[in-house]
Amino acid sequence: MKCECDGSGWFLQANHYHEIMEWVECMPCLVEQKEKQDLMANIAQLISQSSHQKLAKLLADFCFANFDDKDRLEKMVESKDFISLMSFIEVNLK
Ligand SMILES: [Zn+2]
Repeated sequence: MKCECDGSGWFLQANHYHEIMEWVECMPCLVEQKEKQDLMANIAQLISQSSHQKLAKLLADFCFANFDDKDRLEKMVESKDFISLMSFIEVNLK
């Protein structure tokens, strides 16, 4: 089967029985999405063997390397602004 949806996940198909056009979910894309979800779950499972400290160190390195305004980063840490720091990580890791 090949993709018929151009990446949207859905395509129009003729339903000859009801004589209408209907939206159908694209199977190859659905399979690909499922495989991606399975792979991500397996990656997360593997990473979960790491210690919290190791993961925290990796993310701290990431923050320092990617946060342009070091003064703001320092202020965030001083004020223990956990939510802003986690938001930064979540937005910038993507
Ligand atoms: Zn498709």
